Amino acid sequence: MRASWHEQFSESPDVLKGTRHQQTVVPVLDLEIGGDEFITMAGPCSVETEFQLLATANHVRRAGARILRGGAFKPRSSPYAFQGLGLEGLKMLARAREESGLAIVTEVMSECDVPAVAEYADILQIGTRNMENYSLLEAAARSGRPILLKRGMVATIADFLRSAQIILDNGNPHVILCERGIRTFETATRNTFDVAAIALLKQISHLPVIADPSHAAGVRELVAPLARVAVAAGADGVIVEVHPNPDKAWSDADQTLSFADFDEMMASLEPYVALRQRVPARGGERTRAMEAVG
Ligand code: PEP
Ligand code: MN
Repeated sequence: MRASWHEQFSESPDVLKGTRHQQTVVPVLDLEIGGDEFITMAGPCSVETEFQLLATANHVRRAGARILRGGAFKPRSSPYAFQGLGLEGLKMLARAREESGLAIVTEVMSECDVPAVAEYADILQIGTRNMENYSLLEAAARSGRPILLKRGMVATIADFLRSAQIILDNGNPHVILCERGIRTFETATRNTFDVAAIALLKQISHLPVIADPSHAAGVRELVAPLARVAVAAGADGVIVEVHPNPDKAWSDADQTLSFADFDEMMASLEPYVALRQRVPARGGERTRAMEAVG
């Protein structure tokens, strides 16, 4: 399988595993994404208020999250929906980092916002709707910040890797791939969680791969089961939406976990994460151990 991907990407093989690159580890503050530790990123869909953000940051940190998520610039399908707090939201995120020690990941939607977002955030998120916005990818890459690249909702795995390649070509090796569900004929879930993409990307690419079960599922009851599946498929981490009062969240309420839901998810992930760590994180041994449990 690897050979056929090398053939397909013969002009731009940098995203693929090769003799030079077996595994990229993305450093973020004191963390390494793509290393031995399974990384949980958690926080609200949108930054709303200082109380909401700080309460969430403190809770998810105590429960084991290492990175705080929260959108200050929100891509919304309706022009009448909440569009995010913008710069004020970025400042709240920076205060939450100071108070909690958690690193910050937040979305950048436009080239013009890259300098501001890069000033406040530790990781720049490129959303599903912008995976093919090449001028944004270039500007984000050149900021030098690590990039969390979400898979386009109608992008193939090859399209996804080509977008990652653009970031690498612009001098930024620190790309984290994120599977967040794709559009299919199925409407029972918000998107269709493509777990095979995680397993495949872990085999062919050296870039870290994380999963976003919140946007894949669209309903909170499915977030924990999909997160467990992501660990078993070899993901390096997950990103999930959490809010002190999820039903009142200003965006994505249906898929947002309460603090208690988050604690339960973290506890349910533990045996899966432990299994992942029992064998060398980057060798074939780990893959075989996971296959052995089915
Ligand atoms: C988000 O993370 O809140 C978000 C909008 O994600 P996506 O781009 O995957 O829809
Ligand atoms: Mn969201």
